[in-house]
Amino acid sequence: MMLLQYFIQRRFIIMRMLFVSFLILMSKEPDSLYYARLRKALVDKLREEGITSERVLNAMLKVERHKFVPKELQRFAYQDRPLPIGYGQTISQPYVVALMTQLLDLKGDERVLEIGTGSGYQAAILSLLCKEVYTIEILKPLADSARERLKRLGYKNVYVKHGDGFYGWKEHSPYDAIIVTCAAPRVPEPLIEQLKMGGRLVIPEGDEFQVLNLYIKTEKGLIKHSVIPVRFVPMRGKIRE
Ligand code: SAH
Repeated sequence: MMLLQYFIQRRFIIMRMLFVSFLILMSKEPDSLYYARLRKALVDKLREEGITSERVLNAMLKVERHKFVPKELQRFAYQDRPLPIGYGQTISQPYVVALMTQLLDLKGDERVLEIGTGSGYQAAILSLLCKEVYTIEILKPLADSARERLKRLGYKNVYVKHGDGFYGWKEHSPYDAIIVTCAAPRVPEPLIEQLKMGGRLVIPEGDEFQVLNLYIKTEKGLIKHSVIPVRFVPMRGKIRE
């Protein structure tokens, strides 16, 4: 009897030890592994929701969105929703980032212009899918922190400029693709000029109610495709004059 009790107790102790070491292991699992699992789940969800480009899904799997949001919001980084990034601005919802990127149909050799750098997340996604990304942010502290962040994370083909994206970035034009990540009442004219013939431009248009529009530049003018209703922070600066 005593012997049986001894064995039961011993087994209990061993099981408890195993359980405790399991807990320690789990809690010590590096953040990056934990977040990689959440990211995978998010990408699976994006695929279910109709994102079909494997190149885009792959980029979404690689870029660590939690490193683009304030520390206290990191645990929400892989939920499909926008998050505040300070100065009244937001990092867009992953689905919308994926959709806009997919609409640009990048093959790898393009030069892309982004208006509205924000956290730099969209620029990081683009940088994995094309040759060079030029991105403009009107709020200086956001431009500075995005530039620093992208450099720290090793995104070498992204160039950040502080300024009003209304005017584009003529020096490096023409662009194969342009993506505007703030809502404007119309496409800023300089952006149309700086887009290559056959190039694609994606922009949320409207005020309270906005539509995501894709434009393709042709010899006969712009061809417009309206995609889905969206909600972005407004474009500021010259476009409002
Ligand atoms: N693409 C960003 C999210 C953009 S939020 C990301 O991945 O995090 C929209 C951004 O556009 C804001 O940071 C806002 O300051 C910026 N913005 C607004 N008007 C602008 C303008 N005229 N030129 C450049 N950036 C502008």
